[in-house]
Amino acid sequence: MTVSIRASLLLSALAMAGVTAAFSAPPDEEHATPPVGPTASSVSDTKSAPHTAHWSYGGEGGPDRWGELAPENKPCAIGGQQSPIDLTRPLTASLDVPVARWSPANGAQVVNNGHTLQVNITSPGSLQLDGKDYALKQFHFHHPSEHTIDGKSFPLEIHFVHASPDGALAVIGVMVDGGAVNPSLNPIWAVAPAKEGTAEAAGEINLDAFLPEGSSLYRYEGSLTTPPCSETVHWTVMSTPITASPSQLAAFAQLFPMNARPIQPLNRRFILRTSG
Ligand SMILES: [Zn+2]
Repeated sequence: MTVSIRASLLLSALAMAGVTAAFSAPPDEEHATPPVGPTASSVSDTKSAPHTAHWSYGGEGGPDRWGELAPENKPCAIGGQQSPIDLTRPLTASLDVPVARWSPANGAQVVNNGHTLQVNITSPGSLQLDGKDYALKQFHFHHPSEHTIDGKSFPLEIHFVHASPDGALAVIGVMVDGGAVNPSLNPIWAVAPAKEGTAEAAGEINLDAFLPEGSSLYRYEGSLTTPPCSETVHWTVMSTPITASPSQLAAFAQLFPMNARPIQPLNRRFILRTSG
């Protein structure tokens, strides 16, 4: 038994390493769309570069058309490692767990970019994953959740986007369920622009309050869930949701009634889950 578990772990590790090697140094797609920068800003849900056709979550610019809207969006249509996915039937593994060191944010920039609310972080926050350092750049929200867990969707999912100096991305996904009020959301919701625009959140935002305690986690190799869908993301998704009050959830849903990409095929990938 031990041997077979080890064997599957080794296989997984090899698969993940292969995936990383194949996709961590993509061609210039991340550099091809000025004025978007090479790392963090290219993954944000910030507005597309001027020459890029408008994308959306429905209608003419909807997810089934993303791949046709711009040459750099090809992975959206033909990629084999797309996100989000349904997190189901994972291999249980003793995994390298990402270590997040997030400082409380003293003020933050809250951007309504037409696709989501994005909170740009200026205070230092870092993540260590597989021996590599990533810096926290921004976090943003999807309603309903983009990932599902054993087919279950949640009212909200938060993506914490980290970038390494070489352009690799590590995103932590946290599910939010209805329940107790989440005080850390209040300063963000309070200033969220109702239309495209930017506002400054005042006061301290305790980022650690967004991380569920004692949660096991899923890991897999995937992509940005927005155009250009680059397959450069090391995904970690927490299995335990945090909570927000029904009125907090409703407030976001009023701004963004649906900003989740549909579930993508797993194809030849492994989903790993920590045993703890
Ligand atoms: Zn996202």
